[in-house]
Parts: sequence; structure tokens; C-alpha cells
Amino acid sequence: MPINNSRLVTYSPAYTIVPTYECFNRCSYCNFRSEPGKSPWMSISDADSILKPLQSEKVCEILILSGEVHPNSPKRQAWFRRIYDLCELALSMGFLPHTNAGPLSFEEMEKLKRVNVSMGLMLEQLTPTLLNSVHRHAPSKLPEVRLQQLQWAGELQIPFTTGLLLGIGETADDCWETLIAISQLHQRYHHIQEVILQPHSPGYQQTFDAPPFDPHHLPEVIAKARQILPPDITIQIPPNLVKDDRWLLACIEAGARDLGGIGPKDEVNPDYPHVQEQALREILQPAGWELMARSPVYPQFDSWLSGELQTAVKRWRKTLTPVSLL
Ligand code: SF4
Repeated sequence: MPINNSRLVTYSPAYTIVPTYECFNRCSYCNFRSEPGKSPWMSISDADSILKPLQSEKVCEILILSGEVHPNSPKRQAWFRRIYDLCELALSMGFLPHTNAGPLSFEEMEKLKRVNVSMGLMLEQLTPTLLNSVHRHAPSKLPEVRLQQLQWAGELQIPFTTGLLLGIGETADDCWETLIAISQLHQRYHHIQEVILQPHSPGYQQTFDAPPFDPHHLPEVIAKARQILPPDITIQIPPNLVKDDRWLLACIEAGARDLGGIGPKDEVNPDYPHVQEQALREILQPAGWELMARSPVYPQFDSWLSGELQTAVKRWRKTLTPVSLL
């Protein structure tokens, strides 16, 4: 049966590796971080053992998701080198790397572009009021630092994923302003492939004492985001944080078209297991939506990649794209 493009919802068959959980920031909603020095870094041989069995599975994206070592720390260079080497390893094994390791220097971003098909950093919320609450001890969450990352990604032609964290003390207007900022940068550089709308979902480790973002409000945020963002930016929602199937469908009806990386574990929200591909299909299909795997780089950005990366991506496109869409 032919696939109706306008009823397609995508996801990325992914696996997350974590070079280190240590992070010098202390965002009070964090359920990921360890104290600096308390989380052993992932060795290349450990990563090799983790990745090898995945080669025979349908895993395309390796998300390299790291806690942050302070830019002035004597350990920064070794930390960056480890991330680079992990990307190179994943690439050499046929996977497509996508790194999200917090704010980087321009030179660090430039180097990582060589071994990543896309990169990401959540803008979260731009309002400075959060620097007095959830981000009081998180220097990396300075709005201007994060906006600059998006700008550098544009200058370097790095296909980029960003997003908002919802329900951490922002107002509705704060949300729209953050979306407008993303939209303006995209209109300048045309480099944002997707915007994640992530509802705050409390976990066991966090100290931030606030209720979850009500997923029932998510469809209206998505609809407004769809109005603000240019049409070539895809809106992504994490299905494990929208538990109710009816509301997941409402989010899609409102304009979300991607469900992000689906793998064994959501490292950022470890208390919320991923809904796996077959279960998602069973929710979507009766409502007329088709679930399709995608690569971590959208086709319109292929020409920004090196020849080596383009070859790796092409191989995956053939595997992931249904024959009716080739
Ligand atoms: S949310 Fe990210 S930046 Fe903040 S403490 Fe956790 S790992 Fe670090």
C-alpha cells in the first residue's frame, strides 16, 4: 500500500552511550549527573563491546550524551578527546554519531563536525529568571552561551537539534520567546532540523520539587510552536513522557511529527522507559499514522557533510526508507 507522506511520523533507531555522567553544573531538575570525579569515563574498549552486538540490530544513530567538564579544567582536553574518539569508533562501525555534550568552544564544534552527522543542544528556556532558581548552580545554562552555540552551529553548517524544557518555572510568553529566538537563528542559517518539546517529568534523583508539566497542555504548546517555527523544522516529542495514548495522538494531530531516538534507555529521564517501536506502531496505526525510521540527519543537510559521512548516511537511507518512498 502506498505511504501517505502527510501521515508519517518518524523516529530514530538509536542507542545512547555516555562518555561520563560527571557534570560541573547542578541543574536542580537533573536526573543524570554525578559529582565530578565520581563517574568513571567510558573507555574505548568498553564502547567497542557495547556497540559490536548492535551492528546486527537495526540501530542507526549513536547518541553520544555527556555530562560536562568545565572549560577551564585540566581534564577538559582529555574529555573532549574521549568524545571525539567515541564518535570515530561509532562511525568506523557503520553507525551515525550525534553528539550532545553541552556548550563547546567554536574549535571543539568544528572538530566534532568531522565525526558527527548532526549535533544537538537544548536551548531549554531563554528567560534569565531561571538563573535564580533551577539554574542557580549551572553556569552552562546562561541563555547567551546556549544561543551562541546555535549561532556557531549555523556558521559551521552543522545540522542541529535543539529544544525546550517545559515546566521548569517559565511562563507561556517565555516559551514563545525561546521559540522565536530559534526561528530567527534558523532563518539566518537554515540549520535547525528539529525542535524537541520536552515536558518536565520528575525523577528520583532531582531536588527540584515541582509537578510534572501537564501533558494535556502539550498539544496547545505544539500548535503554537508550529505557528512560530518555520515549516522545515520538525517538532519532536518524547513519547515516554506522554504516557496517555490519546494525548500522544493529540500531540501528533497538533503538529508533532517525530518521536526522537528510541533505544533501550532514556538516559535523561531514566525513570521513564522508552516506548518501543512496535508499541508505538500499535498506537499510531489505528489513527491512520505511519511510523517510519529515520537517520539522525535530515536529507536536506546531506550536502553539508564530508564525503565520508555522506557515504555512511547513504547506506542507511537505503536501509531505512520504505521502497515506496525511494
Ligand atoms: S541537566 Fe545537563 S548540564 Fe544540568 S546538571 Fe544535568 S547533565 Fe549537567
